[in-house]
Amino acid sequence: MRWGLIGASTIAEQHMIAALRHVGGEVAAVVSTTLARAQDFADKQGIPKAGTELSLVLDDPSIDAVYISSTNEKHRAQALAAIAAGKHVLCEKPLAMTVAEARDMVIAAEKAGLVFATNHHLRCSGSHRAIRELIASGRIGRILSLRMFHAVHLPENLRGWRINDAAAGGGVIPDITVHDADVARFLLQEDPVNVVAQMSASGMGQGVEDSAMSVWSMPSGAMVMSHESFTHPFAGSGLEVHGTEGSIFARGVMTQLPVGEIELVTAAGREIVPFSSHGLYVQAVQDFVSAVNGSGRPAATGRDGVASLAVALAVREAGRSGFRQVVDYGVRA
Ligand code: NDP
Repeated sequence: MRWGLIGASTIAEQHMIAALRHVGGEVAAVVSTTLARAQDFADKQGIPKAGTELSLVLDDPSIDAVYISSTNEKHRAQALAAIAAGKHVLCEKPLAMTVAEARDMVIAAEKAGLVFATNHHLRCSGSHRAIRELIASGRIGRILSLRMFHAVHLPENLRGWRINDAAAGGGVIPDITVHDADVARFLLQEDPVNVVAQMSASGMGQGVEDSAMSVWSMPSGAMVMSHESFTHPFAGSGLEVHGTEGSIFARGVMTQLPVGEIELVTAAGREIVPFSSHGLYVQAVQDFVSAVNGSGRPAATGRDGVASLAVALAVREAGRSGFRQVVDYGVRA
């Protein structure tokens, strides 16, 4: 598969270009808003073509798919243009700034018969897939609660638009809560109904929240607790799932790498749960390529991306207003 990159980003540089190539993909071109940056990025990454116009990628009939990793406010227009040009789309989260925008993108791809995926990497990990399997198999009985710990220390090189620019989609809620929303939906296989939340801005950035804590109600009656932050140097990450017959404790599993450990505790005792250590982003690309080739579906579809955004935006509104918010998934066609 031949790929065009839209966005000369850190995530492309650090993870996605290697993942695209790992599964046999060719990265044919990169588009950035700045020519010098595009050229520099292309030179460093060994990408043959670089430019500032989307047409560089979209008018090239040899390019099958685009990977969009620009700042969040740009995703919608870039995705719609790619879809209009007949390209399959792997888009970074959050898909867009609003649920309506995200739905536009997904519906356009569906109408065009193109694959559209959201790059929610956590559900691609061996750890999360093992936990989902444990839950689905009934090993811990009826699910009572899920607690997610995802408070990180934002590296200096990522402290630009993420903590200073609300208009570009900055803030910990669109950045990390949106991932946790996807994790909860993936593990529990149901969609949060309503949320309460608190959020704060400690001063790391300007104008956006850098920490959030929220509680979500699920249709089954299970409760979900979610904590995200940019400001915690030593917190580590993890999740716990508690059921009537057992509990799952997963440490270090909310990361970009195939690491961490899972412990299952039941009346029979404690056991360490093994899981695959395949690359998360490699799996995401592999599933995307399979979907394009007509077998299977992307790890996280466009509709998954709409749903995770809907939950994240409900958390932000609950934090802003102080009132419980019903999650508005938009009209589900
Ligand atoms: P970056 O800030 O590295 O890149 C985003 C955009 O900012 C780039 O497309 C680029 O624009 C511009 N940019 C980047 N570096 C510079 C620079 N030094 N000078 C000027 N402009 C620069 O963001 P991330 O890679 O962290 O995030 C990109 C997207 O990917 C976001 O949507 C984010 O939410 C998502 N993401 C997803 C992750 C996942 O695991 N799924 C992990 C991390 C991010 P241009 O191309 O126009 O030059």
